Amino acid sequence: MTDTFDLAIVGGGLVGASIAFGLRERGMRIAILDEGDRAHRASRGNFGLIWVQGKGLGLPAYGNWTQASAHLWPKLASDLKQATGVDVALSQPGGLHLCLSARELDARAAKLEALLAQPGFERYRLDMLDRDALLRRLPGLGSDVVGGSWSDLDGHCNPLRLLDALHLACVGAGIVYRPNAAVRVIAPHRGAFALDTTAGLVNAQRVVLAAGLGNARLAPMVGLRAPVVPNQGQVIALERVQPFLSIPVETLRQTDEGTVLIGDAQRDVGLDESLSTDVLATMARRAVRMFPALAGVRVTRAWAALRIMSPDGFPIYAASRTSPGAFVATCHSGVTLAAVHAYKLAPAIAETWPADLDVYAPERFDVRAAA
Ligand SMILES: Cc1cc2nc3c(=O)[nH]c(=O)nc-3n(C[C@H](O)[C@H](O)[C@H](O)COP(=O)(O)OP(=O)(O)OC[C@H]3O[C@@H](n4cnc5c(N)ncnc54)[C@H](O)[C@@H]3O)c2cc1C
Repeated sequence: MTDTFDLAIVGGGLVGASIAFGLRERGMRIAILDEGDRAHRASRGNFGLIWVQGKGLGLPAYGNWTQASAHLWPKLASDLKQATGVDVALSQPGGLHLCLSARELDARAAKLEALLAQPGFERYRLDMLDRDALLRRLPGLGSDVVGGSWSDLDGHCNPLRLLDALHLACVGAGIVYRPNAAVRVIAPHRGAFALDTTAGLVNAQRVVLAAGLGNARLAPMVGLRAPVVPNQGQVIALERVQPFLSIPVETLRQTDEGTVLIGDAQRDVGLDESLSTDVLATMARRAVRMFPALAGVRVTRAWAALRIMSPDGFPIYAASRTSPGAFVATCHSGVTLAAVHAYKLAPAIAETWPADLDVYAPERFDVRAAA
């Protein structure tokens, strides 16, 4: 059986689902083609931050894009609530990056100074705070915390509810979600695309590759490139405790349900999603140095998941020149960027691809390699 759609989105993680959500009211017949439950999915293992501070060093446009998403997030949360009734627990009270030594603090200050000094970077309020200023915001801080940085724009949400709400809204709007439909081959054919999936053949006028790590293999089939690799992160979940942390910290946050999450680590271990006790112990020790009261709180579970990393860490968005109608979208901050993916990237795919997205094209890797 062959199905025909105006648009096929390959990948039903946060990136594909956010784009589909942004396209849901355009009268297009859309299918999301996804793998099965055992697939690698960053969208099911992430930390849930909507994080702006520190982003965009080396690509100021990315800092601006991230800010735009933080500003659009309240609209996303409200549109999702209206469409599905799901509350994604958005909270944007600002956020903190904490430093545990003078060296860390100096490095942080230097990084943020360089970030703000970039031509074309839209400046926002970003403060370095000393220990006393931090204590006024977080009275339970450990004595090892020497200072940190603050941005008003940061926040967090429940990322599993976000994914669920996006899917519910898409399906509710008539978008076809097809799990267990891994795309094996995409063949451009007479201005359209034939997708050979494990659940049969799908034809589409346009195709968006939002397959996370799968984009590396699929992109060349439609004249695109997405040289992404896995980068492992780990998360520790602690039991529910009384509210003590109203502000998310870059590596530590209390959820709306009262549990505490510790998230960190950048490991180059290929497709390995197994936990390392050394890494978990380091993360836990740092968390206890930040908030000593956590020493008595029990761990309920821990997991590892794979980020989707491009060579420079910035997103890859591109429209194919050789196979018009094919696009690729991938990034390592798909929670933060969900709002721009819905309200800015989706229209670019449906209408005209704007020149300001060209900074995210994979050709930048050739320039850097040649330099
Ligand atoms: C530990 C960790 C912490 C993180 N913390 C944050 C955070 O705090 N804030 C933030 O903004 N971001 C965070 N991220 C990043 C964020 O989770 C990702 O950027 C986002 O989930 C990427 O979504 P995606 O849809 O591109 O990829 P995925 O979630 O990996 O989804 C890709 C989908 O494509 C499917 N697929 C692959 N190949 C095929 C194929 N051939 N055919 C059909 N389907 C296919 C897969 O099955 C999968 O469902 C974190 C990530 C990790 C790992």
